[in-house]
Amino acid sequence: MFLTITATGTPERPATDLGFLLHKHPDNAQAFSTSYGTAHVLYPEASVERCTAALLLEVDAVALVRRGKGKGRGGAPDAALAQYVNDRPYAASSLLAVALSAVFSSAMKGQCNARPELPARPLPLRVEVPALPARGGADLVRELFEPLGWTVTVEAVALDAEFPEWGDSRYVSLVLESARLTLSEALRHLYVLLPVLDDAKHYWVSSDEVDKLLRAGEGWLPDHPEQKLITSRYLSRRWSLTREAMERLELVRLAEADDSAVEEIDNAVGAETEADDAENSEEKEEKTVSLAVQRRDAILAALHASGAARVLDLGCGQGQLVQALLKDTRFDEIVGVDVSMRALTVASRRLKLDRMGERQAARVKLVQGSLAYTDKRLKGYDAAVLSEVIEHLDLPRLPALEYAVFGSARPKTVLVTTPNVEYNVRWETLAAGHSRHGDHRFEWTRAEFRTWAGHVAQRHGYSVEFTPVGPDDPEVGPPTQLATFTISAGTLTTKEEKAA
Ligand code: SAH
Repeated sequence: MFLTITATGTPERPATDLGFLLHKHPDNAQAFSTSYGTAHVLYPEASVERCTAALLLEVDAVALVRRGKGKGRGGAPDAALAQYVNDRPYAASSLLAVALSAVFSSAMKGQCNARPELPARPLPLRVEVPALPARGGADLVRELFEPLGWTVTVEAVALDAEFPEWGDSRYVSLVLESARLTLSEALRHLYVLLPVLDDAKHYWVSSDEVDKLLRAGEGWLPDHPEQKLITSRYLSRRWSLTREAMERLELVRLAEADDSAVEEIDNAVGAETEADDAENSEEKEEKTVSLAVQRRDAILAALHASGAARVLDLGCGQGQLVQALLKDTRFDEIVGVDVSMRALTVASRRLKLDRMGERQAARVKLVQGSLAYTDKRLKGYDAAVLSEVIEHLDLPRLPALEYAVFGSARPKTVLVTTPNVEYNVRWETLAAGHSRHGDHRFEWTRAEFRTWAGHVAQRHGYSVEFTPVGPDDPEVGPPTQLATFTISAGTLTTKEEKAA
């Protein structure tokens, strides 16, 4: 199994930068053992003008069969497995994708400590895969790679070159060229699309494959026209996983469109934009403290009152609250969760996660995930915050979030804030009947919020109290409503304990 990656360069931008990016020195041939055999990395060519890295995977048939046995369905010999062992030692199948991610993991993540400026820079790249199993043929290969900015040259490989009348095999030879992509993007395209084309990944799909797919697909999969085919094939047509992935991709797409296109109305009235300034400003006292800051203060006060030390910020967005929590030594462990990878990237930059000292870093974690799914990682915390998040979900999805947070994660305290729609008449810039944010799926009156919160508390064994945030208008109430849920004494904390 074999592929090559070639960069071309100039004296200012030498092609041998490829070696830094791949973390593999061009002068050495190196071998790595992976779960499916030995991966070799070597450079047939390494000059300023042209540098080629080759990845060759020598499949270990014995290891593969041994691994496969434990995992095969019902102990029956796996047809897909037989193919790897018998017919296809040179084909660039999903096993090559696994090797790619094992051997070039930093390059895939876009990390390069030696030359931190390199990974973000697009490179003139040429990828060659001489034998690629492609179910769907050359047309599908083009449909998958062209929308990503590759120039695609693809030729069907004849079954036997001496007997063209036998027709084509299921292999193609592929050349991809682009000067617009970064190496990380290129590797992540291959990591996902090689197994998609191979379409025989059956025996190792597990639920964390959804996370892997979304990570590798960051920045390109949410907008890919063949997203559905890619997702479904990558996840071996496991319907429930495919559905989860599609929903999460849709949320990413919406959240990201949202980030760039629509600003929170708080911004429009100057509240959010003032937030950071106001915090440092000497005239702070004189300024009306912005609503965003008031919300954060109210949340911090409620967290202090609850005595929480380990806190989840669910739908953490760009990490403002996580940052405030980190500054407060009362909080030992802070986990920010969001479905939008772009928001998490901004959050991680804001927090300077990569430059943080070890002790600080041990206190904080950012996790990509959807709140509409139960998630084991979220169990066992003292408190969870949902600040301005519920109104971003379609109403029919709200019960799923309710179950994931109150039924499954079950923190002792849950804080939920959401706009009070009655207050909207007080925002001068808001036309009547409009919501505060383009992506708000609903906005509730005080009565609607209380009804929902009351039912949630009752269904899951919590008590609930309400606090106004911002000026509490005698007629229409405060702009933000905060509900504090506290788990009822004697309520078991997890379903498992209940079952016991
Ligand atoms: N909590 C932040 C951000 C609120 S904006 C604050 O108070 O300022 C809403 C955030 O919820 C966005 O970052 C959005 O990406 C996230 N979000 C929306 N639906 C989500 C879901 N189903 N799972 C996880 N995060 C979600």
